[in-house]
Amino acid sequence: MTYLSNNWQGVNYSTNNERSFDSKYSPNSTFFESVSFKKKFSNMILGALSKEEFQRIASNSNRVSLAEGEILYQPDDKIDYIYFPETAVVSQFCILEDGRTIEVAMVGKEGITGQGAIYGSEMAHHWTQVSVAGKALKISLDVVKQEFNRCEALQSRLLNYFNQYTTQISNRVVCNNYHLVEKRFCSWLLMLCDRHGSEEFMLTHSHVAGYLGVHRPSFTHVAKKLRERGVIDYCRGNLSVLDRSELLRHACECYTGIEQSF
Ligand SMILES: [Zn+2]
Repeated sequence: MTYLSNNWQGVNYSTNNERSFDSKYSPNSTFFESVSFKKKFSNMILGALSKEEFQRIASNSNRVSLAEGEILYQPDDKIDYIYFPETAVVSQFCILEDGRTIEVAMVGKEGITGQGAIYGSEMAHHWTQVSVAGKALKISLDVVKQEFNRCEALQSRLLNYFNQYTTQISNRVVCNNYHLVEKRFCSWLLMLCDRHGSEEFMLTHSHVAGYLGVHRPSFTHVAKKLRERGVIDYCRGNLSVLDRSELLRHACECYTGIEQSF
């Protein structure tokens, strides 16, 4: 992504991988007048706000680099921060007593993490972990709650996303129970591409198997068949899409159902 090379004004670096917006930055300064701020912020919820609404929220936010595998919340953690992914993709998992995992939801630039804390319980329900490294805006729960109550546009976008999120959860339940691993993987990979804006990922077979809730040999068998057909390729943990139209053809109906809800 180009964000790091952009000439950001009104932004201060606070740590090595975290920078905050200058709360003293004037609303009339050139940053908000000379560039299309919606293009600067690829999170679709924040991008839908007016520049005044966005500026108010941005003045209380930090842009962070999320690393692959970084844990944002564990079950029963108190949620203090909400993440608005831009290029990062975050997965929510259920972990069974025997250690098996399965992804129940995927969040990218279309949504936010920790949304349940805005409407009710501030305790995390799922293991929430970064699946693809990238950027996100990190905003305190208190600020998001305050803006949710005062900003009609944000409230509308967040409630709309809540509906999209529950649609994804219900689709994933059906998908995980009734569809073949190959079709599930193709749908999952398409969702990942849409959220990250790329068709190449650092993903091992073990990682993908953990997302899909299957044993690694089962996924390796599927990946081998798809590579032989020229749909994907993989080498040393690098997995890429070679033919998106074929990937779409092999995906189950869930992909269309989930993505049409956005
Ligand atoms: Zn499915």
